[in-house]
Amino acid sequence: MALQEAIEQLHFLVIPFGSPGHYIPTIDLAKLLAQHGVRVTIVTTPVNAHKFGSILDEAIQSGLPISFLEFPFSYKEFGLPEGCESVDDLPDIGLGGALMEAFTSQQKQVEQYIENLNPRPSCMISDMFLLWPAEVAKKFHIPRIIFDGMNCFTQMCNHVLYLSKVYEGVSESDSFVLPGLPDRIELTRSQLSFAFNSGSMDAKDYYERLRISESEAFGVVINSFEELEQEYADAYQKLKKDKAWCVGPLSLCHKDASQKVQRGNKSSINENYCTKWLDSQENNSVIYACLGSITRIEPAQLIELGLGLESSKRPFIWVVRAGHKTEKIVKWIDEEGFEERIKGRGLVIRGWAPQVLILSHPAIGGFLTHCGWNSALEGISAGIPMVTWPQFQEQFYNEKLLVQILRIGISVGAQNVVHLGEEEKSGVVVTSAEFTKAIEMVLGDENESEDRRKRAKKLGKMANEAIEQGGSSYRNITRLIQVIRD
Ligand code: UDP
Repeated sequence: MALQEAIEQLHFLVIPFGSPGHYIPTIDLAKLLAQHGVRVTIVTTPVNAHKFGSILDEAIQSGLPISFLEFPFSYKEFGLPEGCESVDDLPDIGLGGALMEAFTSQQKQVEQYIENLNPRPSCMISDMFLLWPAEVAKKFHIPRIIFDGMNCFTQMCNHVLYLSKVYEGVSESDSFVLPGLPDRIELTRSQLSFAFNSGSMDAKDYYERLRISESEAFGVVINSFEELEQEYADAYQKLKKDKAWCVGPLSLCHKDASQKVQRGNKSSINENYCTKWLDSQENNSVIYACLGSITRIEPAQLIELGLGLESSKRPFIWVVRAGHKTEKIVKWIDEEGFEERIKGRGLVIRGWAPQVLILSHPAIGGFLTHCGWNSALEGISAGIPMVTWPQFQEQFYNEKLLVQILRIGISVGAQNVVHLGEEEKSGVVVTSAEFTKAIEMVLGDENESEDRRKRAKKLGKMANEAIEQGGSSYRNITRLIQVIRD
């Protein structure tokens, strides 16, 4: 059989998890695989299909071999509000367990689907947070690959932490060095990822099961590119016995502005208005501040950010989101006349921003980010330096990568993870003056700022080359497909 024909016979079943930071790159991955000729089926639910999936409508209509396998979602059965299928829709983060259970209930439906399928799917790619796909893969003898939303640096940090237990017996605030890594990485206990630092939640057992699930999987797909973190990519490859594939940056699979604007959700701002506003600013002058899709930062802390952006005297875009407390911060913005004060220089987006579209505009000169890996990698892909303000999960590791290893970031100086649902406990940890200072260091004219900009630009170029034909991520996708074909 000819090579291309053999690839077209392959069928990948892709199973995302309901959180934008997971769903969005999984949809991108599905698109990339299909662009390489593989047939892809995405397991989904009604609201998520619409919210995250519509970006693929046009490509599917023009023949890209992707389809959605949509199952109803049992909101009532699990005590979830109608239409709530994703972490960002949860009225209360305490309902996270119920959401996970609702996702777990998909197992039966997926098994029924596979039972009636002849031939069986060639491969399953499932999100790192889902445990049940392992049972399905075992039952039907299908190779299972984990889609892990993190980079190789984080993988290696978690690996050495797990092996060495170096954090044990250390106080919350005393720093320690992670042993055996190519760089000297110092962290404190309160900066560790959820697996080692889960606040008031007891997540030990769940994370242990995730670790085993990952170790038993056929392989792992990583949203990163090798050149970005070569030593860590090599070490992780070795650990995974060559069954780890860096195939990113996944966001770069969308080339046109019309696609970029649809990514993740319906934009809260008219794209033409947003682009016109950016067109009216000088190149490399605007700071874009967006803290991901699920942060629930306290209004008092967000006010500090707003004031910091205002006193920076730089043009800015501020994406305002605070979960169930969004109303409070919006009230402050309105009552203070904030938008009046910053008219012409600042743009407030209340809700979902077309992030990759904004980041790719030449007026953007810096990105104030919470260091979620998707956002960080989107910043890298756009070739811009960053102001780093990590919040939770592995975001303090990502900050180390951006600030210390890649040297394209300036930290605002946050010291501890702010656990989701426990934001009130932390209060205000970064002042407006600290935000202003970090923004100035990134956007300023000093030699150091200029060098940072150059490094960021260089990485942006490398990121774009990685996914083009002949680039490392392109080759890795091909290698992954070949392994499944053979
Ligand atoms: N995002 C977006 N618009 C927003 C907020 C987030 O497009 O207003 C996208 C962003 O581009 C990224 C994802 O949502 O792809 C967030 O993932 P990340 O890993 O950065 O953070 P998380 O939301 O998981 O904390």
